[in-house]
Amino acid sequence: MGKATGFMEYPRMENPYRETQERLSDYAELHLVQPGEIRLCQASRCMNCGVPFCQSDYGCPLHNLIPEWNDLLCRGQEKAALERLLETAPFPEFTGRVCPALCEKACNLANDGVTNRDNELYLIETGFEKGWIQPRIPEVRTGKSVAVVGSGPSGMACADFLNRQGHSVTVIEKADRAGGLLMYGIPNMKLPKEILARRIRLMEAEGISFRLNTEADPRTLIGYDAIVLCGGARKPRSLNIPSMDAEGVHFATDYLTAATRGLLDGTGSLLSAKGKHVVVVGGGDTGNDCVGTALRQGCASVTELEMMPCPPKERIGSNPWPEWPRILRTDYGQTEAAAIQGADPRVYETTVQRIMADADNAITGITTVRLARDQEGKPAPVPGSERTLPCELLLIAAGFVGCEEATLSRFSLKADARGRLMGDGSTHYLGGKLFSAGDMHTGQSLVVRALADGRAAAREVDAFLQG
Ligand SMILES: Cc1cc2nc3c(=O)[nH]c(=O)nc-3n(C[C@H](O)[C@H](O)[C@H](O)COP(=O)(O)OP(=O)(O)OC[C@H]3O[C@@H](n4cnc5c(N)ncnc54)[C@H](O)[C@@H]3O)c2cc1C
Ligand code: SF4
Repeated sequence: MGKATGFMEYPRMENPYRETQERLSDYAELHLVQPGEIRLCQASRCMNCGVPFCQSDYGCPLHNLIPEWNDLLCRGQEKAALERLLETAPFPEFTGRVCPALCEKACNLANDGVTNRDNELYLIETGFEKGWIQPRIPEVRTGKSVAVVGSGPSGMACADFLNRQGHSVTVIEKADRAGGLLMYGIPNMKLPKEILARRIRLMEAEGISFRLNTEADPRTLIGYDAIVLCGGARKPRSLNIPSMDAEGVHFATDYLTAATRGLLDGTGSLLSAKGKHVVVVGGGDTGNDCVGTALRQGCASVTELEMMPCPPKERIGSNPWPEWPRILRTDYGQTEAAAIQGADPRVYETTVQRIMADADNAITGITTVRLARDQEGKPAPVPGSERTLPCELLLIAAGFVGCEEATLSRFSLKADARGRLMGDGSTHYLGGKLFSAGDMHTGQSLVVRALADGRAAAREVDAFLQG
């Protein structure tokens, strides 16, 4: 504990957002980075608790040694703090930007938790800036080879760990760029793609090879000693209504992929919201990313429909600290929409009942309906609550139902009832030379959980290979 009274002297200070109008005019990073002195003060707020809930199962899934690196950071020992962080965190430049910071809500300072995410980001970016991050090439190779299928965070973390153990790792990715949902999912504003490219270059320099535009096929993977399937849980949940094939109805990830691809290729998006009335179905993170992207593309209006009731503003009794608080959160896209349209874009307990299309089958509008819970708690339409909205772009961000069937059938595998490749449930092992990790193994989750699961699977693969 660098400063016994830090938490009483300094208020919590997060990296602030850029001003709303300014950030709406570009796709650049949302946050401003604060100078090192502020991060040092913020690190001194950490109390080095006897029971650090931040690094327990309630907090960081990577079990980052948070009090230890906060202590070193607050003493100005940035390099040592970074080394401590890197013992458990494979890519802090990703989690420092997109992690919801489960650790901060489990902090003993409760609502005023230490700014671990921003501190972590400061440490890794300082490391890159000062040249402390260099390729770590294994001195000895084991002669074993591993194919990692999928280059999302779980595949990257798995490949990184196995390469450090001396195995030869090839990452096989069907998309044209590596990164999974870090590349084509999470928008550039939240995670600039040059940050991702910097890490991939580093991994290549460390000896990992990335084979892009390649659909994994077991027949071409026979020569590998182990295969880890990290293909994600990418099958989107659809709406059970007619006219889903109308032009202008898209799944959120297809829309967000087109936006990022258009940005990186300099061609503009093939699915632009420009001038359109946009309706997003789903009030979660993905829905919010669609709102922020549609606003930057110059949509005429954006509305977000959420089936669930509006969450409470504060924790309720059945959701005590140190659990993750299930409360109302307003993310960047919703704040931006409120600034432009004068009101929060979210409409709760409401869904789409009907899609209207013109003679060319292009969507022109939708009918929404309010939902009420019946006695069994199931949502049912409220008669007479129908409302018509103009809509030329309908984005479905209603979650994911599991891994894609194409990969399952190619590898002759069966998912469980929730679309996960669980094996026997207690390990990542699927039989033969096969393992699974990340969202494909756990179901749709978070970047930090995918990283932790990728590393956990890699440890099992290492034991399998080394005997
Ligand atoms: C829009 C959106 C925003 C999100 N925002 C956040 C956020 O802010 N913070 C957060 O923590 N989490 C966020 N998430 C969740 C997070 O991105 C995922 O939990 C995480 O990316 C899962 O990692 P993964 O490696 O398991 O799978 P993925 O990231 O889905 O990667 C799987 C990869 O496997 C490839 N693949 C699949 N099958 C094959 C095959 N047969 N052959 C070759 N390649 C294959 C895919 O092309 C893909 O690149 C978000 C998710 C979405 C959809
Ligand atoms: S990865 Fe997320 S949960 Fe873990 S220390 Fe960083 S911000 Fe906290």
